[in-house]
Amino acid sequence: MPGLMSGLRERLGPAGLVTDPAEMAPHLVDWRGMFRGTALAVLRPSSTEELAAAVRLCAAEGVAIVPQGGNTGLAGGATPLGAAPQVVVSLARMTAIGPPDPIGMVIEAQAGCILHNVKQAAEAAGRLLPISLAAEGSATIGGIVATNAGGVNVLRYGMARDFVLGLEVVLPDGSVVDGMRRLRKDNAGPDWKHLFIGSEGAFGIVTAAVLRLAPLPRRRAVALLAVPDLAAAISLLGLFQDRIGEVLSAFELISAAAMQLVATQCGLIAPVAGGGWFLLVEAASSLEGLTPAVEAALEAAFAAGLVLDGTLAASEQQARALWALREHLTEAEARAGKSLKHDVSLPLQRMGGFLDEMAARLSVLAPAARVNVFGHLGDGNLHVNVLPGETPPERAPAITRMVHDLIAAAGGSISAEHGLGQYRLEDWRRLTPWPERALSLGIKRLLDPDGRMNPGKAIG
Ligand SMILES: Cc1cc2nc3c(=O)[nH]c(=O)nc-3n(C[C@H](O)[C@H](O)[C@H](O)COP(=O)(O)OP(=O)(O)OC[C@H]3O[C@@H](n4cnc5c(N)ncnc54)[C@H](O)[C@@H]3O)c2cc1C
Repeated sequence: MPGLMSGLRERLGPAGLVTDPAEMAPHLVDWRGMFRGTALAVLRPSSTEELAAAVRLCAAEGVAIVPQGGNTGLAGGATPLGAAPQVVVSLARMTAIGPPDPIGMVIEAQAGCILHNVKQAAEAAGRLLPISLAAEGSATIGGIVATNAGGVNVLRYGMARDFVLGLEVVLPDGSVVDGMRRLRKDNAGPDWKHLFIGSEGAFGIVTAAVLRLAPLPRRRAVALLAVPDLAAAISLLGLFQDRIGEVLSAFELISAAAMQLVATQCGLIAPVAGGGWFLLVEAASSLEGLTPAVEAALEAAFAAGLVLDGTLAASEQQARALWALREHLTEAEARAGKSLKHDVSLPLQRMGGFLDEMAARLSVLAPAARVNVFGHLGDGNLHVNVLPGETPPERAPAITRMVHDLIAAAGGSISAEHGLGQYRLEDWRRLTPWPERALSLGIKRLLDPDGRMNPGKAIG
């Protein structure tokens, strides 16, 4: 398509159009190395206007667009498919961060900003952007919004959606919608920005966001606990909610198998004697008395026989070391080889039954497989990942199908926080009741009638 390429070169300049295969290569494969695709080019616009002009050129030629941020997504959503002509749009050059407003509690950032950098800017003003995940050194604001990212602080603060006050987006026809309002209250018409939050690039391209900030807690208490079983872990969640619920900011579940992988693959050893499960618990506040309140809750937990062993970090350095165990879980699993990831959520009272039934069915379907479970227990979100071992690769779809079927039967979701991407699209089609699917498809047709926004991902 020489006409398109010369038009794009003219609009974007040499730094904005990448066609060299070696430079394009990292954009054509996902973080896990599971999905690979091809693209005509990688576009790197430096402004919303440049991006909008490029989108109009692509629309005129019928070329599909795959938005890409930090490429840390775990569902293959940012990887182009090999089929129809596509370009990848990388937001990597759109990285402006506005000055935080510490009284209005907002910050503005362009879509290509790395999450960590935006958090640092907020912290320099004494405020917190409470979206926290292990990939925050690479994940971008655009990707965070487009996937409605979760992470370890959802229990207290909510998902990315809860922090988006305003959005700027480029629609599939190249028009720009500027909704960069800093308002907490705005009932003037339907709140269209929520269509784009969590839509995985299937409706348009997020170019900038106004994000709500929270007070920055000046103190935190971090504990690692070993518990005998899942029932004890869930009872402990109730106990902590009763006693320190207002300041509870993370309640992370780690199976003994997952902790073992962090030890063998990353050399990080848990400083408590293991039971069946571990919990990483964090409470944070600026008020005096946080640590005594957490200590009292821990004493009650031991007295109730819910905890086998535990440690409360005595310094910020120890707190970081405990968090490092949690933050290396995904990395450790990746180092152990390819896994089948299942990012599910379900009501807490169904969790134990689901895990038992899944283990029983897996032992028949794939006796050589191992299960690696961890997750955000406080949100009912488990990462139920299967390490296939010697299991024949052709059995993978049946394993995922089995897990997702059990989740659907338990009233859960097959995509708690990572999105559908291309990885889960087929099961979303299979398991989503028609009226609900029809609604999503109808919105897609309205916003993207030619189906050129991230085809084959998220909706279809
Ligand atoms: C080690 C590790 C830990 C992780 N932990 C968590 C976790 O705890 N919680 C969690 O929710 N996720 C987690 N993730 C997944 C991932 O980091 C998030 O999904 C993140 O939001 C993706 O951001 P990104 O910029 O890398 O997006 P990408 O991977 O580049 O893209 C993700 C999706 O968003 C779309 N997209 C990207 N940018 C835009 C844009 N500007 N406009 C429109 N669409 C866009 C893409 O097309 C794609 O569909 C983890 C990933 C890793 C590797």
